[in-house]
Amino acid sequence: MRKGTLYVFTGPSGAGKGTLLDLLREQDDRLYYSISATTRAPRAGETDGVQYYFLTKEQFERKIAQNAFLEHACYVDNYYGTLEAPVEQKLDEGYDVILEIEVQGAMQVHEKRPDAVMVFIAPPSFEELAARLRGRGTEDEDKVQKRLATAREELSQKDAFDYVVINDKIERALDEIRGIMSARRA
Ligand code: 5GP
Repeated sequence: MRKGTLYVFTGPSGAGKGTLLDLLREQDDRLYYSISATTRAPRAGETDGVQYYFLTKEQFERKIAQNAFLEHACYVDNYYGTLEAPVEQKLDEGYDVILEIEVQGAMQVHEKRPDAVMVFIAPPSFEELAARLRGRGTEDEDKVQKRLATAREELSQKDAFDYVVINDKIERALDEIRGIMSARRA
């Protein structure tokens, strides 16, 4: 059986990665979305094992020591990481696997898996990113400021990626992503 392709979607918080990938998922059943582990607290409406595996710092650090992560990073005071075993299993089963992760983790995947397709989702402007992040209302102002400072760093690294998709209009950006994926499947 043909092995699946690993896609890494990255880009600053508020660029719209989650929204784009949710829409993509509805239209494609050959995709497996990796569920990350994190030490951040669940937001209202988030369930353990659905959006994330919510771990304590001790649990997360035990998994680091066990080498369980394909990549992991510290982002705005919390750990986030991709568990390697389920990703490998799904690729072996022929699924294309989607990781939605921040930039440091994406770079680690690029090192370990040079065959991974690396896509950076960028906002149309920094101002728009700040407006989206505040408008979403999921973080207090202190966390928003930290996310924006991290976003500046992340945006400066976008040229290291195979593709940069500017999320100006959802449908247009989605078409571009579909185009990238169908070129790989051809
Ligand atoms: P949030 O707290 O908004 O859910 O996620 C914060 C950031 O962490 C986002 O940029 C998200 O893509 C990233 N992230 C989510 N899961 C992972 C992961 O497994 N590894 C890494 N490196 N980043 C992740």
